[in-house]
Amino acid sequence: MAKETTCPICSANIPLEEEDHVGDAVFCSFCGTRLRITRIKEFEKGKKADVEEDWEG
Ligand SMILES: [Zn+2]
Repeated sequence: MAKETTCPICSANIPLEEEDHVGDAVFCSFCGTRLRITRIKEFEKGKKADVEEDWEG
């Protein structure tokens, strides 16, 4: 099943790895922003993660 999220900064679609979980940091490959996964919602066709900009470095 596909897992993805949308960058809150540039609205790009970011594919996530199956092993990415809530609390993990991911990088937007388009704008380079560091994001933290806050929630993962499951849908019929896959999973969609909520992310927020990660300020902690
Ligand atoms: Zn981005």
